[in-house]
Formats: sequence, structure tokens, C-alpha cells
Amino acid sequence: MGNVQSFRFRNYEIHPDSLSEPTYAATCVSGDEADCGAQSDEEVETDKVERWIAEHVRDTGHRRYRRTMADYVMAEPGAWQ
Ligand SMILES: [Zn+2]
Repeated sequence: MGNVQSFRFRNYEIHPDSLSEPTYAATCVSGDEADCGAQSDEEVETDKVERWIAEHVRDTGHRRYRRTMADYVMAEPGAWQ
């Protein structure tokens, strides 16, 4: 006698949160054995991240970065399935 479970799953629509702007940041991943790890601030303007990179290159010669973007979203209840 099997115990059949059914799960109801509600879909959510994901919308950008208009109250919050996306932010950009960079981490220096240059280095032979370990990443440098230097991190920029989170910036709303990509220009500021690019300037941080340029300054870090000037100071260290490091040339490889991981750039990230983060945004805020709202989950709006949708249909049940
Ligand atoms: Zn570095």
C-alpha cells in the first residue's frame, strides 16, 4: 500500500524591485597561487567599478577580475499548479 503524496506548488512571477537599483562590483582574481581578493565597493554606476579596476591595475599590475551584478526582485504570487 503506497503512500501517495501530492505537492501543490504555487508559481511566482519574479519582477524587478523598482525601489532598488542594481549594483555592480569587482573582485581581483589575479594571482599565481591564490587570488588577490581585493574587492571594490558595490556601486550603482559601472563607471565607478571600472575606475576602481583601473586604480588597482595602476597600483598592483593585476589584470584579471570577476565582475558581478546584483539586483533586487519581488516574487508575486501566481497560479497554483
Ligand atoms: Zn589584485
